[in-house]
Amino acid sequence: MIVVMRPTATRDEIDGVRRTVEENGLEAFISVGEERTVIGVVGSDLERVAHLGTLDGVEQVIRISSPYKLASSEHQVERTRVRVNGVELGLGQELVVMAGPCAVESLEQLMETARCVKREGARVLRGGAFKPRTSPYSFQGLGLPALELLHQAHDEYGLPVISEIVDPADVPAFEEHVDIIQVGARNMANFVLLKAVGQSRRPVLLKRGLSATIEEWLLAAEYILSAGNPNVILCERGIRTFETATRNTLDLSAVPVLRSRTHLPIIVDPSHGTGHRALVAPMALAGAAVGADGLIIEVHPDPANARSDGDQSLSFDEFGALMDELRRLQFVRAPDAAQTAAAVTAASGEIEDVRDRIDDLDARLAEMVQERATLALEVQRRREPTAHGHDVRRERALLERAATGTTGPMSPVELTMVFDALLRASRSVQRRHAQSATEADAAAAGSGR
Ligand code: PEP
Ligand code: MN
Repeated sequence: MIVVMRPTATRDEIDGVRRTVEENGLEAFISVGEERTVIGVVGSDLERVAHLGTLDGVEQVIRISSPYKLASSEHQVERTRVRVNGVELGLGQELVVMAGPCAVESLEQLMETARCVKREGARVLRGGAFKPRTSPYSFQGLGLPALELLHQAHDEYGLPVISEIVDPADVPAFEEHVDIIQVGARNMANFVLLKAVGQSRRPVLLKRGLSATIEEWLLAAEYILSAGNPNVILCERGIRTFETATRNTLDLSAVPVLRSRTHLPIIVDPSHGTGHRALVAPMALAGAAVGADGLIIEVHPDPANARSDGDQSLSFDEFGALMDELRRLQFVRAPDAAQTAAAVTAASGEIEDVRDRIDDLDARLAEMVQERATLALEVQRRREPTAHGHDVRRERALLERAATGTTGPMSPVELTMVFDALLRASRSVQRRHAQSATEADAAAAGSGR
């Protein structure tokens, strides 16, 4: 800290500053210039002399080191990585996409959205249970029952879930039902809430306040860190400016600025950051390009009829297209590689976690195999009801692709065995259906119809 004295400061005033500094256990280095005197203040607890600016003869106090310690990259050089159920967020990790509805509206709406965002490659499911709305007459969220629905979606789809807390008294319920606790923009400076989530064992996603500077935001993170919770994720979601063409001004420069100041993971919310569906994908790509560790995106089965933030929610198709683009640009890996990585991460946890993950994969495989068989039957139906749907040339090409297209512990021969079995089962389904179609035709002919 540097204290700049006025040009008119007297010897006594300079001495007064030195005495105050030393009485507080800090050191003062006085340098007397032609026009004015400056005093360097050194020590570990500069907060004790935060009032130096009020002393007689002082013109200005300049802080050199950041007022936040735990959040600062001066204090911790290694990047913080936040791990939640096999998903890892932080520099050098894959871009993590969190997606889901602004608000949980019903079990069906949530499950349908969870199924879609998981299929498209999202790694975390979002959904608001308590909605801090600007108007008291707007939909306020379903409350606690929505947290239970999120828990159900987590169990069904195996995605960690994130939801926003508004009341410190709800921390136990959030700990029971969600994997990441969100503190929204309107509560970034709710210090009671920050301290409460700081005592939680769940990671906290801290959104930037509507008009918060980066320093204020990092000091809010400091509240959570200093209360004992090291797992804080920062989320840039746009700030209030004079611009009215967008709901907020998404400050993407905050991402590299934060990179140089903090070790905490940083994600971008292009939904609240723009307020318009058409702007979400371009700003999501821009967020990824500028180095965010993740994105959080609002997705709804029927945006036009959403109970909150429909204008900025993506439809399933729009979300799918965005994920395709993120994959094409290699911000997100192709599903097989991502899943292999998740399987490896899970393998480093408890053996039961690994088994759970295998069960989850088996359930998804069974669903996918059924979906494949349904499509194979559809091909058969469109060709000619009684003809077989398979095409030997395509099958051979599929086997070749399967044998060479992926990496992992299975050898090409083992992979070929899996696909061979799949093709045989698929032919058997097609044959059975062709058989029953022929029998139905014969019966119809026999009855004279
Ligand atoms: C939300 O995520 O739905 C939300 C209300 O966000 P914010 O706090 O950024 O407005
Ligand atoms: Mn919203």
